[in-house]
Amino acid sequence: LIKNIEALKAQLDIVDTVSNFIELKKAGANFKAPCPFHSEATASFVVSPAKQICHCFGCSVTFDSIGFVQEYKKLTFVEAVEDIANDMNFTLEYDASTSKKDYSKVMEHTNSFYLKNMSKEIYIYLQERGVTKQSIQKFEIGFAPSSSIQLGELQKELFSIKEAIECGILATDESEKTYARLTNRISFPIRNHTNKLIGFGGRIIKGDRAKYINSPQTQLFDKSRQFYGYNIAKEHIYKKGTFTITEGYLDVVMFHQAGIQTAVATMGTALTELHCNSIKKANAKVLLCFDADKAGKAAALKASKLLSAHSIYGGVVLFPEGKDPADMVKSGETQELFALMKKPTPLIEFVLNTTANFYNLSKPEEKQKALIEIETFLKTLNPIIADEYKNYISQLLQININHLHVNKEKHFEQHNNTPTINLSEMNIIKTANESEELLNITLDYVDASAFTYHAKEFQMLLNGDINLQGELLREDIRTYSQEELTQQLLIMQYKNYETKLKQLASSKDSYERVSFEMKKLKGLMFEIKKRMKSA
Ligand code: ZN
Repeated sequence: LIKNIEALKAQLDIVDTVSNFIELKKAGANFKAPCPFHSEATASFVVSPAKQICHCFGCSVTFDSIGFVQEYKKLTFVEAVEDIANDMNFTLEYDASTSKKDYSKVMEHTNSFYLKNMSKEIYIYLQERGVTKQSIQKFEIGFAPSSSIQLGELQKELFSIKEAIECGILATDESEKTYARLTNRISFPIRNHTNKLIGFGGRIIKGDRAKYINSPQTQLFDKSRQFYGYNIAKEHIYKKGTFTITEGYLDVVMFHQAGIQTAVATMGTALTELHCNSIKKANAKVLLCFDADKAGKAAALKASKLLSAHSIYGGVVLFPEGKDPADMVKSGETQELFALMKKPTPLIEFVLNTTANFYNLSKPEEKQKALIEIETFLKTLNPIIADEYKNYISQLLQININHLHVNKEKHFEQHNNTPTINLSEMNIIKTANESEELLNITLDYVDASAFTYHAKEFQMLLNGDINLQGELLREDIRTYSQEELTQQLLIMQYKNYETKLKQLASSKDSYERVSFEMKKLKGLMFEIKKRMKSA
């Protein structure tokens, strides 16, 4: 599918790749960190620059650079490759047959067409809501006219209808009739971090249709990872170290208008793991700016839990009824808005308070339920952070601090005391893994059946299984010199013959046959002994 993937791989460095996401500490020839794939207090996660792999001795995962990104960001292989290439400014070449289509022409043309369709009436409508001319230009706000007008335009410009469907501009109904997705709506183009147009959001001006709709999930557009406004806010987010997350397109526009240029919004979905990864990458804290209504509070609670579990910190600001941030900007109450935003409730406190408020704490059984819910939440946190909140919680719930259990179950740590292995066998495998030559020497003496404990690992070596590379990073496994290897292989062979000899002795075969085989084996063993002495 991708033609120059090997060229990309050659430029990858596992240490660079992994340290984009987690902090690594040097440990001898390798790097170490607490594993990002299971929760632990110790650092069982090892990154090997020599082998270009990472491995966790706790949960036994092994990845190369692409595999790591795939797992960490929950991507498919191709998505991970594209993601990495994008970060490295590396241009991927696709096979002609499977080449990714370039939808940018039809997308950009549609956006320009929506901009052209901005009528006086819509303009006045936006201005009445407080949106300035500058904001309309900055966010490329336009208007999507009726289906027939849009279809006519695409046909007139000779765009492929199939392509327009594939990138979510058009769709077909049950009777195979083609229609435009966004009709008679204010259009908000959605651009990704590289400013590529990937979708549209649309807002009604009147009527009782859904207030907002978005482009569907397409090859270009993945709602679960994009933030609206990120292309514009990105630079400010990195500079200020804050992600201001609001509820809708218009909120983003109005926040920016008020000078809060770190504002973005999720695309009509809750915050996801993938969003958390973007936030972590920016090394930013988060300010959740939601409405104080039921839906806004529930969304803030869910987001606060998810962010805290990802060790992302920040706070929540809930805007009371009638104090919609967009309305506040419009009516010039920006100072009041800033004042509200200066006093966010820290995320963890917000979760604790909201949970406690949900229960009637004067009833012991309800207090017990609140405690269980809070303990469940605490277990998702970094144990040191969780510990910090013990006093706060005991006061909040009016309970004895000793009743509070904040520590995670030591799930993986138990296995962590390195499982027993047969060192001499693993040393042979590690040595054979070093080069083609050493592997060939090994194969001159033994095959997988010669290994008593690690036949599976030897087979993994022959299969080029990456998981073996991870296991071989164990510090107690070493490589032999070529002479040592030969000696060890001879010993192994000798022991194998010894076992066979014992089996023969108890064999029920004819005397002639057994003694013939025994003589043969003894001869071989004698040869080995001679070679071992001479070496
Ligand atoms: Zn792990």
